[in-house]
Amino acid sequence: MRQVDVAMIVIKSPSEIAIMRKSGAILALALLAVRERIAPGVTTAELDAIAEEIIRSHGAIPAFKGVTQHSGQAPFPATITSSINDELVHGIPGPRKLRDGDIISIDCGTIFKGFVGDSAFSAPVGEVTQEAARLLEVTEQALAVGIEMMRPGNRTGDVSHAIQQHVETRGFSVVREYTGHGVGRSMWEQPQVPNYGSPGRGARLRPGMTIALEPMVNQGAPGTRILSDQWTVATVDGKPCAHFEHTIAVTRDGPVILTLP
Ligand code: MG
Ligand code: MG
Repeated sequence: MRQVDVAMIVIKSPSEIAIMRKSGAILALALLAVRERIAPGVTTAELDAIAEEIIRSHGAIPAFKGVTQHSGQAPFPATITSSINDELVHGIPGPRKLRDGDIISIDCGTIFKGFVGDSAFSAPVGEVTQEAARLLEVTEQALAVGIEMMRPGNRTGDVSHAIQQHVETRGFSVVREYTGHGVGRSMWEQPQVPNYGSPGRGARLRPGMTIALEPMVNQGAPGTRILSDQWTVATVDGKPCAHFEHTIAVTRDGPVILTLP
């Protein structure tokens, strides 16, 4: 079974990775514009419109719009997912206004010339508590720690373990139900890269693998639930959470972040 899984990992050529870098650069511009607009009083629908306009004006298309995860679920209606405070991922943009002290997590995807970019960040709205600021800092650090491990010869478990260690030794928890993943022509490819795991386990990283790494960190317990809109994922205990994500290429020279402007 393991061999089958490894065979399903799609290795990208340098020219394909160059296209993915372009897709990721467009996405990064959109996320940068969204981040600049974040302030008390702004609605999540306004943030969504900004992202869509930038992505389309650069010749890419929003990757999340129209996606369903399982039959019976309404297609995702927007360009970004916007998730506030105890909401972790997959929140639907709408009339909700950001408030001073909120944490907002924005996830977004692009498709450019058939290749997907996938990236997310969490940010404070106005002034947040010290603990919320710490949660954001540790989650962003966990992504950097994971990226650093994405070198040929390491295994996905080495990446997972490094993220989990960084988070748990700082008093926070990692979500189990959602994981990092291969990405390319499809938004979800092999291998899965959980935010918890054991060193030396999982698929071996090879040059040409492209993986979206995405630590999801809870201030309280790791459990999540799906809200009645069938999309929004929130923490079970109602405590805040954070999410950072980049699409990374594994290369002979080390990890290359593809979702930068
Ligand atoms: Mg994402
Ligand atoms: Mg992702």
